[in-house]
Amino acid sequence: MALTNKETIVVVAHLLPCCGMVVDRVSQVKNEGKPGPGDITLCSRCHFLLVFGDDLLERLPTAEETAVFSHDQNLRELLAEGHRIIEEQATRTERGLR
Ligand SMILES: [Zn+2]
Repeated sequence: MALTNKETIVVVAHLLPCCGMVVDRVSQVKNEGKPGPGDITLCSRCHFLLVFGDDLLERLPTAEETAVFSHDQNLRELLAEGHRIIEEQATRTERGLR
């Protein structure tokens, strides 16, 4: 799932903690470039907000992180943009356009 201006990296296939979706590539939503520990990403299936751990595997945000994120206007806008792109890609996939 590549978001605009975001770098997607290929990783070993693994399950997401939110809904169990299998992913083999990741990108972050908050900053440019490759994802790093503490960066935020979004599940393309259930739209759950996830955080990259030190091992670059996605984990659920802590209660403290969730509280910080909910007050971050810039992050809310980025997540809205992420949701919009995911919806767009889902619509394209449904239509077989890819
Ligand atoms: Zn999910």
